[in-house]
Amino acid sequence: MALELIPMEKCTLESGKMLFLDHIVDVTLDLQSRLNVQTCTIWNAPIIWDGMFDAALYDEAHKRKNSSVALTVFAVGKYLDAYLETFLHSSEQHFMLGLPVTYYIFTDTPKKVPVISLGPNRSLKVMEVASHSRWQDISMTRMKSISNIIETEIRHKFSHVFCFDVDQEFTGRFGSEALGESVALLHAYYYRLPKSMYTYDRNPNSKAYMETGDFYYHAAVFGGRWKRVKAIADACYQGIVEDKKNNVEALWHDESHLNKYFWRNKPTRLLSPEYCWDDSIGHTSDIRVKRLIWAPKDYKNLRPNV
Ligand code: UDP
Ligand code: UDP
Ligand code: MN
Repeated sequence: MALELIPMEKCTLESGKMLFLDHIVDVTLDLQSRLNVQTCTIWNAPIIWDGMFDAALYDEAHKRKNSSVALTVFAVGKYLDAYLETFLHSSEQHFMLGLPVTYYIFTDTPKKVPVISLGPNRSLKVMEVASHSRWQDISMTRMKSISNIIETEIRHKFSHVFCFDVDQEFTGRFGSEALGESVALLHAYYYRLPKSMYTYDRNPNSKAYMETGDFYYHAAVFGGRWKRVKAIADACYQGIVEDKKNNVEALWHDESHLNKYFWRNKPTRLLSPEYCWDDSIGHTSDIRVKRLIWAPKDYKNLRPNV
């Protein structure tokens, strides 16, 4: 499995310091600042933890490079009332402040999208999507909608895309340090567990089948440059469609396909579970800043087919 070569984009800061956006560990990251957690992968992609990065340097570099971010989020059926307002309010406080941001809200009930006052250079677009009778299909078809909106719109206006689950709340900075060519998130439940416990798809008949991998990534957050996010969404959706043809469904749906993609196409930047933490896990000194937390689940009342 060859590592693709990714063009390194350099940015000279006012101080004269050079910052390498996009790839592999750059000189401004202090990999030794966190001794009890893994800060770098074997393919040299950084794993971003609090204390490792200088937020001001990333903000300056991304402003200089005119980085801009499209955020996609789906709120279909009862998930809209339950989660969307909290998600948006909190993201206005914490997500990519200082950069242009547009929210792409996908819903089956556009009229119900709450009116939120947005900061400067921030806007919101509502896209109508069909609902599905199975929550698994609501979750999996996101990949198709993400690919379509990148192709028709995002690619012409934004450098980066971040895709989020709606059942979450921002509680700390989720800023430009998280931007990269291809960005994956370490799942809060698995980052300390041995690989044998990762819940990859184990059915050889599924396109998501994996024997082993690098990490267990969480599909609630992924992103990157638009071109790469489109490739991710296309690959995952293709796997999902093939599986449907063959009458199989991957164990964790789009997340299984996403894990397969990132196994074959290594992410260039990994986010630590600070970027998507579940408070019910309890205290660990690993998590110095909670940047995004899981909202309470209520599958029985919120999902269509439970
Ligand atoms: N989703 C939705 N309506 C549904 C089910 C799912 O809008 O009825 C979207 C929503 O963005 C949600 C995501 O699909 O966050 C993934 O589903 P969920 O969060 O239930 O999965 P989990 O994180 O619990 O695995
Ligand atoms: N592979 C692996 N671990 C995995 C999945 C695949 O080592 O979890 C290796 C596998 O042995 C093979 C290659 O990656 O050499 C491609 O396998 P895959 O099943 O993804 O290929 P496909 O049959 O889909 O073309
Ligand atoms: Mn979720």
